[in-house]
Amino acid sequence: MGRLKNTLKFIVDNNVGKLAKWLRIMGYDTRLFNGSDDSGMVATALDEGRVMLTRDTQIMKRRVVTSERVKAILIQSDKPELQMRQVISDLSLDCQLRPFAICLECNQPLLERSKQQMEGRVPPYVFQMQSQYMECPICHRIYWRGTHWQAMTKRLNQFVGYQRKKEKF
Ligand SMILES: [Zn+2]
Repeated sequence: MGRLKNTLKFIVDNNVGKLAKWLRIMGYDTRLFNGSDDSGMVATALDEGRVMLTRDTQIMKRRVVTSERVKAILIQSDKPELQMRQVISDLSLDCQLRPFAICLECNQPLLERSKQQMEGRVPPYVFQMQSQYMECPICHRIYWRGTHWQAMTKRLNQFVGYQRKKEKF
């Protein structure tokens, strides 16, 4: 079961687009669907074995979904925090799966970079403080475990705080 969870991939409808960033922060391969043709999203989900996340009740009525050939989750809330909480809870996602693994913009696996390679490419104060860097091979955005990253992971942990408490007792 654990292995299955680790290989979950997603396609996120643009009506719940904020979920894409959070799932990528957790390390899940997540495509954002920006088109207007629902059939395109369903076809991609089927082809690539992605779990579909949407607020569109019509999509949930499609045969490919009701027959469970495509797994889809109907997101209940319009608040990103509650949406994230629902996805994590419904699928028992591991929030610490692979932090720092996927570009938040392009959904591309990040590549490790050495400190030397980053000289002149990150602000001097960052270069002094950080020794571990990751780079997106597509957009060349550089990631490090700085304050911005810490703030995001802290928020992520808040989404699931209630789950952890439940597990303890
Ligand atoms: Zn990128």
